[in-house]
Amino acid sequence: MRGVPAGPRILLKRLREVMAEPINAQLRLDKIVRLIAGNMVAEVCSLYVMRADSMLELFASEGLAREAVHMTTMHAGEGLVGLIAQRAEPLNLANAQAHPAFSYKPETGEEIYQSFLGVPVLRQGVMLGVLVVQNRASRLYTEEEIEALLTTAMVLAEIISSGELQSLARPGTDIAVRRPLDLSGLALAEGVGLGHVVLHQPRVVVQNLIADDPAQEKQRLEAALNALRASLDHMLERGDLAHGGEHREVLEAFRMFADDRGWTRRLTEAVMTGLTAEAAVERVQSDNRARMMRQTDAYLRERLHDLDELADRLLNQLQGRSMTRLAGELPDNAILVARSMGPAALLDYDRSRLRGLVLEEGGAQSHIAIVARAMGIPVVSMIENAVGLVEPGDEIIVDGTTGLIHIRPQPDILNTYREKARLRADRQAKFRSLRDVKAVTKDGAEIHLHLNAGLIFDLQNVVDTGADGIGLFRTELQFMVTDRLPSLAEQTALYRSVLEAADGRPVVFRTLDIGGDKILPYMAKAEEENPALGWRAIRIGLDRPGLLRAQVRALLRAAAGYDLKIMFPMVATIDEFQRARAIVHREQAFMERFGRDKPRSVQLGVMVEVPSLLFALDALAREVDFMSVGSNDLLQFLFAADRDHPQMAGRYDACNPAAIRALRMIVEAADRAQIPVSVCGELAGRPVDALMLMALGYRHLSMSPLSVGPIKAMVLDLDLGALQQRVTQALEASETEATIRPALEQWAHQHGLL
Ligand code: PEP
Ligand code: MG
Repeated sequence: MRGVPAGPRILLKRLREVMAEPINAQLRLDKIVRLIAGNMVAEVCSLYVMRADSMLELFASEGLAREAVHMTTMHAGEGLVGLIAQRAEPLNLANAQAHPAFSYKPETGEEIYQSFLGVPVLRQGVMLGVLVVQNRASRLYTEEEIEALLTTAMVLAEIISSGELQSLARPGTDIAVRRPLDLSGLALAEGVGLGHVVLHQPRVVVQNLIADDPAQEKQRLEAALNALRASLDHMLERGDLAHGGEHREVLEAFRMFADDRGWTRRLTEAVMTGLTAEAAVERVQSDNRARMMRQTDAYLRERLHDLDELADRLLNQLQGRSMTRLAGELPDNAILVARSMGPAALLDYDRSRLRGLVLEEGGAQSHIAIVARAMGIPVVSMIENAVGLVEPGDEIIVDGTTGLIHIRPQPDILNTYREKARLRADRQAKFRSLRDVKAVTKDGAEIHLHLNAGLIFDLQNVVDTGADGIGLFRTELQFMVTDRLPSLAEQTALYRSVLEAADGRPVVFRTLDIGGDKILPYMAKAEEENPALGWRAIRIGLDRPGLLRAQVRALLRAAAGYDLKIMFPMVATIDEFQRARAIVHREQAFMERFGRDKPRSVQLGVMVEVPSLLFALDALAREVDFMSVGSNDLLQFLFAADRDHPQMAGRYDACNPAAIRALRMIVEAADRAQIPVSVCGELAGRPVDALMLMALGYRHLSMSPLSVGPIKAMVLDLDLGALQQRVTQALEASETEATIRPALEQWAHQHGLL
């Protein structure tokens, strides 16, 4: 083809031949560096491979002293080669020795070479080594030469990651590709999982790197790009978003990038060097990942991340595959690794084989976190480039309690975790043995422990945990995990099965709490500056009463013969409760008229989660039958700190004196009005916070299933009177402190409660 440098194409062809030759790994590498040197008219070509101990070792060289191979090593950051590995970007120098980072390695004999070009060897954003060419004469290498070397580095990345070079490593050293990694992220759902990596969206494994016919590859690339654009347009038009975490802005960003000239140009150029279309996408993606690693600006990183995902889509397009795996086919002890995931996708997997989930993104209050907690699957999120760092089948540990993950763990870590898992199982067994024991403190106060639930498989938990009932049934989960609005009959059936599973224990159904971050895939979403403060929950219910009416009807029907408790979320004023109550009364009147079977009793309550209610508590308590504190929202609004924002997590504390005063006001108002009050936010299931709540006078706590056992065990050992004294003391002593948590924690430790 005209206008395209033939050099890289010829080199790639020759490399392919060498890769197919039945020779040993060292010989192959030696041949490869010789080929590269010859093709690039360089006197030296060397390959440094990253070892598991983070040292770069010279694995092959044409031009440098033979004795230096496997002898010369350097740290990442040391010398020019180390600098390239650290920065993950090429370095092009006319006079290498004048560079401040130059470090002299006498055994190599490299002092006679002046010009130096080195590029990182990257795969899936992981640093595998450094490829260098050198010349005696002083000159800068051209853009084409840099491109050619980068393309070649990609081929070497495949060789390194195939594991073939492990046989060349000195005994006791491993090459980095299978290196154990210990990473820390955000703990989203408690528990520990040991298992093997399964990629939620299987990566396209590019097997054929080198093209026979570049013109044909260019056509394939263009066709795939067009198809990609068309499919994005289609998704945007259809507006059925939120599948697998797809949101409109993300798709819009994808669509924009799909037209980005810079991106498409780089792809085309990569194809013209002789790579297959798939390899070209991977080549450009690899550069992009390296940029992402270096980028500190959050916005730009986000955009690079979008671009990365777009490249994945393009790869899938080229291979004619769908983006998601068939959820059915899951090996035993699977740990899913995904960029992001929606709750519906998680529910598609076979729970009995799933041991954990690792995500690159997702906040603590996200739907996936709520669903995973309900399923009892440990989750860690905010693990950067998790998908790139693992290989399917890798051994992996997810610690959803500390937020740590261990990829290819070392034997001692694995053993520690096996032990941990065993202890956990023992503890769970102990908790199970408490199942039928009432949670009564040593000084005789009975604490009622309820479950937070929302999905059909939560129901088994009522029996397994021996909870006193369901303190919060989040009805919106049923709406969030399907792709259309559940019918009246479907809603009725679910509510009925909840009441049946509860077997006479009380159940509090909360009406739809949608809007804010809880988006229904099939409902048009209005753009809002501040969704948490926007059109959500009861506000939607009152403005568009059709949905609320249908839900109330389903609840009334389902509860025929049972006691029914309905609770309204995000109520900010008493009249909102009154209007919601009027809707229920109207539906009751209907039932009456048609002679349908009625619930045995109907009680109506509110979530106290908007701070305005704190200043209307007595009047509110006279109106409602019960109250429940939604501490997740109440605290986020009280402290003006986003509950979903990882950086806000440390900005407020429920054990802050102001928060405690608010929580005390609620329980006191309920006591004055003699109505039941509970706490159903995450606080109730956390030991220290639960202590604080009990000290304030709360006797009903509603929590996730995993918390019931530990909280019950704690209650049984608790001297409530002594705790109350300690809390009063701590509050008097620390009015201006940010939190009394340390004092409580210390007390709990001293009394063997934690
Ligand atoms: C809360 O806000 O504390 C609560 C229990 O409701 P949700 O987490 O569903 O908003
Ligand atoms: Mg809430």
